Amino acid sequence: MTKPFQGISVPLSNNTLVKRRYSVTQDVVSYRRCARQYGAFNVHKYAPAQQTQAYFGTVLHQVLDRCHGHFHGIIDPSTKGLLPDNGQILSEEDISDYFGEAKSARQTGKTDPFPPSDIVRYFIQVENGLNSKGILAIRSELRVQAVKILQYFNALEGPTLYPRVRDTEHRLQADRTNHILHGVVDLLVDAPNKVLDPAECEMWDYKGSRRFDLNSTDWETYEFQMRVYAYLYQHKHGVLPRKAVLYFLNELDGPNCPSKRPVNALKEVSIEPNEIQVAMDEFTKTVKQIEQSRLSDKWEAAASGSISEQDCKNCDLRWDCKTPNSGQGVKPIYP
Ligand code: SF4
Repeated sequence: MTKPFQGISVPLSNNTLVKRRYSVTQDVVSYRRCARQYGAFNVHKYAPAQQTQAYFGTVLHQVLDRCHGHFHGIIDPSTKGLLPDNGQILSEEDISDYFGEAKSARQTGKTDPFPPSDIVRYFIQVENGLNSKGILAIRSELRVQAVKILQYFNALEGPTLYPRVRDTEHRLQADRTNHILHGVVDLLVDAPNKVLDPAECEMWDYKGSRRFDLNSTDWETYEFQMRVYAYLYQHKHGVLPRKAVLYFLNELDGPNCPSKRPVNALKEVSIEPNEIQVAMDEFTKTVKQIEQSRLSDKWEAAASGSISEQDCKNCDLRWDCKTPNSGQGVKPIYP
């Protein structure tokens, strides 16, 4: 009897290397902060109960992106060259009143009242998008604080910064043999004399925090992030940027809009070639550690003292982790 597949030979396919993509912040910085949290939420994709930690920073970034789009006429060509709200600032009471009216309108099935300013309108658009992904503000004061900071930034920095912005959400990536490394820089800013030259450009990254609240590990992480971005920038443009700058938006917070930039708002990160090399070596080492964790499916919690208590406070795994509370763990609420 003839066998059906007799005489047929199927060649083995060549093993192709599938390169994994590693994001500077979502993968490498997250894993370095806490491998256990990274494994649970980034690799196994468990859904966090609340994403309040992500809320504040994301809302500030996305509204500022719209402010840049407004000035450059990307959203509506008629706003080209104009500051959102012409740099005018609503009081905290006006912002709270609007949020209150919008809430009652929703509860009674009416249409939301029209936002009282460009920034509040952009804020509501961004917030609706975040809410649909389960990213919420836990306290209503946080919403008012975010709008206040955005207005202050717009009034204080907008007139000189917006005209210098050459690109926002500037995407960078590099093929690193076994993996692809990528990152997104918040702003590329031209030198004040407006020479269109990549060597004259500054990379800016917004941080939704106060500079004063950072511990030494946070600093190292931010420096590491900016140096990896500098490597990627050089890979794309052939030269290093002129500067790498961090802007701490919460330094603007207060009862009134600052009349000049607070001294702690801006911090330049040194990007000497030897420092970039150290950051890249660390990056490669961390990618290898992530690959090993994936193979063994072992994800170690951060050691006590190497992560801020605030980060642990916002983590759903804290009830089953010895690290928070200076290594004492968290006391269960029940029974
Ligand atoms: S509680 Fe802290 S150390 Fe423990 S898994 Fe969460 S972030 Fe990591």
